[in-house]
Amino acid sequence: MRIRETLKNIPPYVPGKLVPGAIKLASNENPLGPSPLAMQRLAEISGQVHLYPDNGCLLLREALAQKHGLEPENIVAGNGSDEIMCLAAAAYVNPGDIVVTAETTFSNYAFAAQLFGGRMRRAPLRDGVFDLDALARLVDGKTRLVFLCNPNNPTGTYFPHTALADFLAKIPPEVLVVCDEAYADYAEAQDFPSSLSFLSAFPNLLIMRTFSKLYGLAGLRVGYGICSPEVASHLRTAKVSFSVNLPGLAAAQAALEDTEFVKKSLAVNREGKKELSAEFERLGLSYYPTQANFFCVNVKRSCHEVFQKILEGGVTIRPLASFGLEESIRVTIGSQEQNRKFIAALEKALAE
Ligand SMILES: *Cc1c(COP(=O)(O)O)cnc(C)c1O
Repeated sequence: MRIRETLKNIPPYVPGKLVPGAIKLASNENPLGPSPLAMQRLAEISGQVHLYPDNGCLLLREALAQKHGLEPENIVAGNGSDEIMCLAAAAYVNPGDIVVTAETTFSNYAFAAQLFGGRMRRAPLRDGVFDLDALARLVDGKTRLVFLCNPNNPTGTYFPHTALADFLAKIPPEVLVVCDEAYADYAEAQDFPSSLSFLSAFPNLLIMRTFSKLYGLAGLRVGYGICSPEVASHLRTAKVSFSVNLPGLAAAQAALEDTEFVKKSLAVNREGKKELSAEFERLGLSYYPTQANFFCVNVKRSCHEVFQKILEGGVTIRPLASFGLEESIRVTIGSQEQNRKFIAALEKALAE
């Protein structure tokens, strides 16, 4: 068999390591577990999984539309936001088209683009932050798609509201701007973009959110896009039927109502952020200020070695070599107990 040329350029996805018995701070999952209301709903609907889910995901889209002050026509639900990225590429990228993003960001944008024969064009981060001016300069007549990640994975940094406003004004209306806000729920900066406010003026904007992080439902695979009805209908055209499963839909709806869990998750993250940044300073390590639920830390030696040593201390983190940062690690902000175990393991790793 002869595999398509374009697929030969796709590097395999490198997931966070799951090591039995170790604390996993490698994939930015919620340290509190799943939303309790979601778990309760899952138990209630388990007797219905012989039925196909609602292909239109209408109840979830209605709930999300209400949350964001929009219409269900503005929402596309997907099998994680990973599916939304693929749908964006499926809908707009022809073989040979250009897809623009940053050098140091989430790898799935390139996967989605290359799956459909798109070619990546990348701008370096500027002081660890998405450089929207540089990205805008890369956009040309062959460009169909731009991927922004805000806050950015793996750095945790963000670009402000005005930067997004300026960027959108510069981009031709036939180029889709995908703004991945998987971690926006955690952002505390006053000038973090209210990206939804740009939807009416920019029908070429697609904002992505997910239930995988704050709501603790990564294993159920539910994410969504927020966009103009036109873009939403284009994306739905490319969608595999029933890609969002029945337990996922039910759990996501319940999680949306779980305000107590959301509040608690944000509080744990805020506390962990304070404690971890103080520890990094004590250890003399430089790190990016984060608006997310993880830190990107420069460990000043091979990230793989540090990964291995931290693992010996019972914790997994993410070595960032695959993101091009040979001497940095990404660590999820965990519970207080998890954070302390991580710091102890890190300190030991650095002392050796
Ligand atoms: C975790 C993450 C997501 C979420 O992906 P899902 O497919 O919804 O689980 C999206 N974008 C980025 C940058 C992430 O880190």
